[in-house]
Amino acid sequence: MTKTMTCIVCPRGCGLEIETAEPSPRVSGAACKRGVEYALRELVDPRRVLTSTVRVTEGQRRRLPVRTTAPIPLPRLVEAARALDAVSVRPPLACGAIIAHDWLGLGADLVAADDLPATEASGAALEARGRGADDDLEQGD
Ligand code: SF4
Repeated sequence: MTKTMTCIVCPRGCGLEIETAEPSPRVSGAACKRGVEYALRELVDPRRVLTSTVRVTEGQRRRLPVRTTAPIPLPRLVEAARALDAVSVRPPLACGAIIAHDWLGLGADLVAADDLPATEASGAALEARGRGADDDLEQGD
């Protein structure tokens, strides 16, 4: 049996053909070995990076783009996306900041995919926290 797919490892998007009737699968159409590895992995353990958004609870911005740091099993992608409904974040957050370690135990962290700058309220809270730390230091002298 022959399966066809498009390699999504790089923007070139090679069209791949996988002959599964061979004693071992044979891949053609790949311009590099990463495409062959991708096709063979797709046969047994298809994975995708989850990209979506989560709710922001403070400031003007309502949603923050997020992604997983590695591809997660394709059969659990919808469940992993739905679970984001229960996630909310507050500024400030830097792009790449970890929002959840090992998202749903799928072996990849959930991280911010954009900066979420401080709002006036979060800036004031951080400043107050900083002042508290200064007070603690002064008391420790
Ligand atoms: S086979 Fe190689 S060159 Fe072609 S899309 Fe995949 S990674 Fe890119």
